[in-house]
Amino acid sequence: MSLSLSAERQEPPAEAADGAWLECIECGDTFGPFDAVRYTCDDCDGLLEVRYTDLPTFEDFSGSGVWRYNAALPLESGVTIQEGATPLYRVPRLEDDVGVEALRIKHEGMNPTGSFKDRGMTVGVAVARELGVDRLACASTGNTSAALAAYGSRAGMQTLVLLPAGKVAAGKVAQASLHGARILEVDGNFDACLDVVQDLAARGEAYLLNSLNPFRLEGQKTIGLEILEAFLADYDAVPDRIVLPVGNAGNTAALYKAFRELVQSGALAREDVPKLTGVQAEGAAPMVEAVENDADEVRRWDDVETRATAIRIGNPVNAPKALPGIRETGGTAVSVSDEEITDAQRDLAGEGIGVEPASAASLAGLRKLRAEGVVDSDERVVCLTTGHLLKDPDAAAAAGNDPEPVPAETEGVLEHLQG
Ligand SMILES: *Cc1c(COP(=O)(O)O)cnc(C)c1O
Ligand SMILES: [Zn+2]
Repeated sequence: MSLSLSAERQEPPAEAADGAWLECIECGDTFGPFDAVRYTCDDCDGLLEVRYTDLPTFEDFSGSGVWRYNAALPLESGVTIQEGATPLYRVPRLEDDVGVEALRIKHEGMNPTGSFKDRGMTVGVAVARELGVDRLACASTGNTSAALAAYGSRAGMQTLVLLPAGKVAAGKVAQASLHGARILEVDGNFDACLDVVQDLAARGEAYLLNSLNPFRLEGQKTIGLEILEAFLADYDAVPDRIVLPVGNAGNTAALYKAFRELVQSGALAREDVPKLTGVQAEGAAPMVEAVENDADEVRRWDDVETRATAIRIGNPVNAPKALPGIRETGGTAVSVSDEEITDAQRDLAGEGIGVEPASAASLAGLRKLRAEGVVDSDERVVCLTTGHLLKDPDAAAAAGNDPEPVPAETEGVLEHLQG
């Protein structure tokens, strides 16, 4: 059941409800969408995907935000805090500097809790309500926990988040805390947290809302749909390339799925699909390794390190969904150093766009690929920036100017300024 842009439209299996079902990407087994709590295939443990009888075209979308796209989602409406409809900024100076035909920044930091994770949670938490569960859980490098805590509390559910001790940026912990999550600080890295929370979920202790959950990725498809609609309005064409930071590769998988569905419905020509281009930090780059070696599987990295803590991940769970997307769209994957990430964070800040370190990886990766000639000067490119600057105030302060102490009187301040 390999994933492909040329997949045929499918007849719904007997388990389908309202034209939607779950399908294993490895063995093709099908399951009802809401008949039981299930994260992977009952038979082979493969990743599941939501499939639909009817796939939408652009004419089927109306309204604003994630739920504008409910024709592409498994539910009509969700637990909403007005997520989505994020800006697609023009950056003419950076565009010139990088040397591409067009550069736009899709700033997902402008979502309610400050990252794209809100798009997944508005759908995922609504599905949890549909399933009748009462406790939600996730492992997180920070942003998933902030989003889960906010959407869980809005839905009136308990939330449990497992965080790698000492490796989560301050803004994210503060959000999870105030929105009322129980925060379990794990003595281990993100991948260890995910191992534990998957065990808890398998024992029925909580409903898992990591991106292993296929419903979350449905919400995240809307990033791609928004980008395409905005590009069609501004350029009468879709972008040539979308560059995005990669952690668990959920977004890469979600964008690929959005494009596959548009190709299947006839709304997008196969040859127009944007090249999906993933960026990882040098200290946590298992996907880049797999793409460079043309490997079918990603090797787990046990020791990962980067100041871009949101993508400090050594075992990207959505790799089987994302690798075919990078390959089939003609994209690639590249790693960047922490210094390159911080430089790109300053570049974006210089355009008035405040992002956390992981987000700046996209621009850093684009610069590198442009310099290597992998990206052409005639390309129209979108860089996805995944989270807001205030998520990681320590990284921002370290990358920016230091405060200068001055006396509390004008003459002293003037003297300081002239000195
Ligand atoms: C979650 C996250 C990522 C990684 O996204 P994946 O879908 O797991 O690849 C990147 N940047 C930020 C800011 C995030 O919160
Ligand atoms: Zn299976």
